Amino acid sequence: MSQKKQKLLFGGHSLVWAGDWSVKNARFAASSASRAGYDLIEILIAEPEKIDAAMTKDLLAEFNLTAAGCFVINATTDISSSDKSIVQAGEDLAKRAIDKLAAIGGVELDGPFASSLQPYEQPATKENRANSVGAMKRIADYAADKNINLNIEIVNRYESNLMNTAKEGLLYLEEVDKPNVYLHLDTYHMNIEEDGMVEGVLAAGDRLGYVHVGESHRGYLGTGNVDFDSFFGALKKINYQGPVTFESFSSAVVDPALSNALRIWRNLWTDSDDLAVKAINFMKKRYS
Ligand code: MN
Repeated sequence: MSQKKQKLLFGGHSLVWAGDWSVKNARFAASSASRAGYDLIEILIAEPEKIDAAMTKDLLAEFNLTAAGCFVINATTDISSSDKSIVQAGEDLAKRAIDKLAAIGGVELDGPFASSLQPYEQPATKENRANSVGAMKRIADYAADKNINLNIEIVNRYESNLMNTAKEGLLYLEEVDKPNVYLHLDTYHMNIEEDGMVEGVLAAGDRLGYVHVGESHRGYLGTGNVDFDSFFGALKKINYQGPVTFESFSSAVVDPALSNALRIWRNLWTDSDDLAVKAINFMKKRYS
C-alpha cells in the first residue's frame, strides 16, 4: 500500500548539524532543527545498525519532528551490479534500512539507491538496469508492507550511470511499476543535468515524492547558480505537497562514508544554526 503525499513538510538533512547519529550529535541535530523551525529531519540510514531506534523515536517526539531516511549504497551493495551476490547484499541492506525507518516511525525513504553512489567508468548495461529494476520491485514490496514509500533520487553523471534526469527517472519508475515508488529531485543535481529547473518537475507531476533543496556548490542557498525561483514556481504548478528538505554539506561536518563519496573537500560554512535558519527562511519565502 502506498501513502498519498499531501503534507508540505520543511526538512533539514542531518548532515547540516551532525556527522553521525550518536546520542550527543543526534540530540544536537534534532534540537537545532526544531529550533530553526523545521518539521522534518532527514537521517542518514546508510548503516542501519548504527541508528538507535528507541533513542531516535524519543528525540523525534521531544522535538516534534517527523523523520525521513536517507539511504545510499556503495560498490559492495550495488543493486545494479552484474554480480548477483552484490545485488543481494544491496537488497538485504535496503530491507534493514526500511526496518529501521519503520522502527523510528518514518514513512519516506529517499536517496540515490537505484545504483551505487560513485563515479562509474562506463555506461550502465541492460543487465545493470534489469538487475536494479528487479531488486527495486522486491524492495518496494517489502517497504509497502511497512507503509513506507521509496523516493528514488536522480543524481548527476558523476554519482550514477543509470539515470541523471527526471525524464530518465520516470522511465525507471514505469519499469519498477509499484505505487509506493516515487521520484526524488534535487536542485543541486538538476542544475547540472536538466534543461532548466522547470521541465523535470512538470514531467514528474504527482510522481514527485521528495525534494532536496541544495545550492550549486552545496552551501548557503541563494549564493550560487541555482535558479530557485523557477524551481519553486514549478513546484507550485504541480501543487507539490511533500517533504522539501534542505541539503548542504561542508567539511565542517563530516560523515566518513558520505562526505568523501560526495567530494566534500571544502568548507562552505561553519555555523550550522545560521545556515539552517537562513535556509528555511529562503525556502518558506518561495514556497508556502
Ligand atoms: Mn540530494
